This record gives sequence, C-alpha cells and structure tokens, in this order.
Amino acid sequence: MAELADVELVRELLEKAPDAGVVVDGRGRIVLVNAQTETLFGYTRADLLGQPIELLIPSRFRDAHVREREAFAASPTARPMDTGLDLFGLRRDGTEFPVDVSLSPLETAREGPLVAASIRDVTERRRVEEALQEREALFRGLLESAPDAMVIVDEQARLVLVNAQTERFFGYARGEIVGRPIELLLPQRFHAAHVGHRDGFLRAPSARPMGAGLELFGLRSDGTEFPVDISLSPLRTEGGLLVAASVRDVTERKRAERDILLLAEEARLANAAKSEFLSRMSHELRTPLNAILGFGQILQLEPLDDEQGEAVEHILNAGRHLLSLINEVLDISQVESGRFALSLEPVRIADIVDEAVQIVSPLADERDAAIRVEEPEATAPLVLADHQRLLQVVLNLLGNAVKYNRRGGAVRIAWESDATRVRLHVTDDGPGIPADQVDEIFAPFARAGASAGSIEGTGLGLAVAQALVEAMGGMISVQSEVGKGSRFTVELEAAPEPEERFPDTPPRAHAGFTVLHIDDNARSRALVKRVADRLPTATVIAADSAGAGLHAATTHHPDAILLDIHLAGGSGYDVLEQLRSSPETGDIPVVVLSADTTRSALDRAIELGALAFLTKPIDGDRLLAILAELSRGA
Ligand code: ADP
Repeated sequence: MAELADVELVRELLEKAPDAGVVVDGRGRIVLVNAQTETLFGYTRADLLGQPIELLIPSRFRDAHVREREAFAASPTARPMDTGLDLFGLRRDGTEFPVDVSLSPLETAREGPLVAASIRDVTERRRVEEALQEREALFRGLLESAPDAMVIVDEQARLVLVNAQTERFFGYARGEIVGRPIELLLPQRFHAAHVGHRDGFLRAPSARPMGAGLELFGLRSDGTEFPVDISLSPLRTEGGLLVAASVRDVTERKRAERDILLLAEEARLANAAKSEFLSRMSHELRTPLNAILGFGQILQLEPLDDEQGEAVEHILNAGRHLLSLINEVLDISQVESGRFALSLEPVRIADIVDEAVQIVSPLADERDAAIRVEEPEATAPLVLADHQRLLQVVLNLLGNAVKYNRRGGAVRIAWESDATRVRLHVTDDGPGIPADQVDEIFAPFARAGASAGSIEGTGLGLAVAQALVEAMGGMISVQSEVGKGSRFTVELEAAPEPEERFPDTPPRAHAGFTVLHIDDNARSRALVKRVADRLPTATVIAADSAGAGLHAATTHHPDAILLDIHLAGGSGYDVLEQLRSSPETGDIPVVVLSADTTRSALDRAIELGALAFLTKPIDGDRLLAILAELSRGA
C-alpha cells in the first residue's frame, strides 16, 4: 500500500516525468494530467479533468479496460498494465497509437485511493520490432526454401537451428535433433576426424568448403549414407561463435560424374578395339597383297603378249591402289585413337620441303610440272612438328599439286612466319576446287570431281594430312579458284631459334681430324657425315648407342665428339660424364647435340664439361663452323 501522497507533490513529479502521466480516481475519472499528456493526446488539461479515462482509449478496449481497473482496485500494486492485448491510446482527432502503460496506486488523504498511470508512446519501438520480425521472417523463409540443408551449431557442436531440408535429407524431425551433437548426422568413421576439423575451424573461422578434396557423407536416421558437399561460415553472435553449415546432397552429381567416366571409358575401349581391329586387318590384308604384287611383278618379267601384259598391269595397279588404301586407313585410325607416336621437335621447314621436293620430282617431271620453292626469309623458320609426319603431309600436298595440275603448270612452295606461327603454302595452276566441294575434300574417301576423272587416288590423303596436322597442334586449309588453281596452307606452331655456344678453348694439336658422332638417329648421322665431308681432313666415326660410343671413344681416341643426348639405351649426359671422368677420354672436346632447346639442358651440358651445345635440327652451316674451328687445332 502506498504512503499517503500529497496531490501537489504528485503534480510536480508528474510534470517532471518523461512520459504522459494521468491520475484517475476510484471511478475512473481523470483528476490530474501533465503537459506530456496534453501533447500526446491532443487535449488541453481542461478538456480532460473530470472526464472518464476511457476518453483516451479506443472503444474496442474499453470493456477490457474496465475489468483491468477493477482488478487493480482489488489488488493495488505498482505494475505494467496488462490486459493481454496490445495497448493503444486514442487521440482527440480519433487516431490511435501504441502505448505501454504502467500503473501505481496513490493513497491520498483528500481524494482517497487514486491510480497513477504513466503512458509511453511506443510507436517507434513497435516499428523497429516489426521491422525486425519481418526481417526474421524473411530470413526464415530463405532458410526454409533453401535447396540445401542448413544447420547452425554452437561452439560445443550442438545443433541450434536446422531448416526443413535438413529434416528431409536426414530423416529427422527438427525436435529430435536440435540440441544434439552434429556428429549425429555423420557416419561413425568420420567422427574422430570431424572433431579435429571442428577445432581447426574454430581456431581460424572463415567461410570455406569443408574437407576440400575429401569425399564427405551424411548419415540418415535409418542408417543409410549419402554423398554431400558442405560449406561452412562462422556466425559471430552475442552468445558466442556459431557455425553455419550448408549441406548439399550430391548424389545426383556423383552419379552423373560416374556415368561420364564410364561412358568415356567405354568409348576409349571401343576406340581401342576399333584400331586393334583395323591394325590386325590391315596386317592380314597386306600379307596376301604383297604376294599378289610380288608375283605380278615376276609375271611382268615373263614374255607376255599385249593382252596378258595389260592384264598384269591392271592387277598391279589395283594392288598398289589397295595397298595405299590400307595404309591410309590404318593411319587415320591410329591418329584418331591417339595411338600413334608423335615426337614433336623443332623442325626446319626448309629441310622438310627439300626432302619432299626430291621425292616428288620424278612425278613432276613425268607430268611436266615445275616445282618452285620460294624462300622469302633469310633463315627458314622452325616449326614444332614430328619430322616424319610433317614430311608425309607435305608430300601429300605436293603430290596433289602435281597430280591436279594442268600440263606445264607450276607448283609453288612458300612460307611465312611470325613469332608464334609458321604457314606453309603449296600453290598449283590446276583446275581448282568448286566452292561447294571445298569443305568436303578433307573427309575420308571424298574425291570431289576427281572420282570421275583419270587421276588415281584414294580420297584419303587429305583426311590423313588433316588428322596429322591437327594432332601436331596445327591446322590445314585451302583457298581455291576454279580454272586458276588452289592454295593449300599448313599452319603450325613456331619453334624458337636454338641457342648455341661456340668453342672458346683451343682444341689440342693433333695430326688428322677424327670426329666421333654418337647418335641413334640415322638421319642425323647421315647429315653430320655430309657436313663433315666438306672438311677435307675430317673422318667421321659413327656410333648408334651409348655403349658403342664409349667403346669407340676409348679405342679410336677421336679429336672431337658429337654427342646426342636422347640416345637409345642411355642418356647422353651419362656418356658425357663417363667421357670426362676417364683419363683416356677426359680431354676430348665434346659438342652436345640435343632436341631439347631449354636453358636448363644447355646449362647441364656445359656444367658436365661439354665444349659447345647445338640444338636439333642441326644447322649444317653452324656445325661446319664448329668442326672447322676444332680441326684447325688438330
Ligand atoms: P586423292 O588425291 O587420293 O583423291 P586427297 O584426300 O588427297 O585424295 O584429295 C581429295 C580430293 O581433293 C581429290 O580427289 C581432289 O578432288 C581434291 N584435290 C586435292 N588436292 C587438289 C588440288 N591441288 N587441286 C584440285 N583438287 C584437289
């Protein structure tokens, strides 16, 4: 029970209070209001004094209010007013606003028991609360509609919050798992590791995928497992660090990945079976075909009358045609299955052209076609290619340019290059290719107009050429004008010009000049021989393996050694080391020849004691200069 209060004192206190204050008597009539009340409700003091308090309350709350007033009278203790409803005030202009009200009993001598109500306008607070609620609802909606299971765990790894997807994925109702450890959702075998991961995450919390690179699984309530991807993010809250995990069921993705792998494997096997079949078949076909061609040739040597001679000629022609068909089909199938060996190395385009022109010359002479090589650049560029395969491509283009040409027409070969690409053009004065057939001539067995004519062919040459060029990382194309001629272009990646070192120490004096060349490649042995032959005093000894080379070095004690690095049966570096470490051969100058143009290859050779380093393809002029220099001392 409150002390007896002095109404004047109450009035004074009320005026100082921040909230609207209203004092009512036992019948609910207003006996006192402060200035804040006037402002808040839009009445003057005079309007209010003596009026029932219900004047300030929306009519729909009035019944509840009367009950509350009676309850308060029965037990008058200071407390917030609680009608079980949100409270509203009613302004003079009829508008409403949300309020909080607290009540205190006042016992006065003059007026008897009174009730002081302190009324606070909570419009702003309600607005903030509503906005927060709205945001929470949005967030919840987001959480619940997420395609992933989302769980939030506390620092003890207990589940604090889970969404609907979590229930669906794992087969639990929310109530069954909230408050329980996250390990409930993981297969037993991950538990130990998971504790470690968890500690790691808590030590350095940042958003990241969980167990990157590991196969993770979730455990359903029925004990079955399913593959998952999990990403984690830390959530710092007043209550401590929480961890939000979003868990994606990747069953479908894993299945698709497996299917793709299976399909790829099946395709690989099918392809391998196809090339296996083709290579066996071509082998089987070639054996009897060789007999046909061989005996046909023997027959040709017999005295035959015209008719018989013609028949044998037909047999031989058909046989040769069949043989090239078989060879080319085999080529294509091997390129397509990726089963043929390509050894890409820097190849000088001019060397390939020289070789091809030599081979095609007899055919060109026969057909009265002139082959002209136009060399526009001082040094012919290097391309990255397989020597043998590129030669095959150029031979095909050159052969076609001769075959499909007019009498007395010319074939021109030219190339151009920039830092990254080299283009080789083969141009003829032939009939050209109609625009509607240009695209199909690269398809196997497509012979365009030629099928009707008398020019022999299989329709496979360009298909093989295209497959080869593409396998070497290049491309092949054609420009053609009917009646004028065609220009085929092969474009390949340019290879860098080799670095080299010239000898800088004088070779030892010696009568005669013997060079030992250790190289397992017959073509480069032949080239070195040709180069060395231009030095009148030089003799070349060739060895085709590491062992043979070392043996020759000790027995012949040559004046210089040219050493290939990629040797069959051993590395040239090992040979170099052994040569340098033996007293018999340690002083012989060694020039390393290598297809490896990298700086580290050069450094290694020089470090092991090589006098000079020349890259392949061998530049004849440079080799000659080195040999001449060495022989001057000999
Ligand atoms: P083949 O020469 O054995 O028929 P290719 O694959 O080498 O097979 O060429 C396919 C077709 O492309 C030839 O049959 C011919 O019609 C056409 N062709 C190729 N090169 C030329 C060329 N230089 N001029 C005109 N037509 C050509």
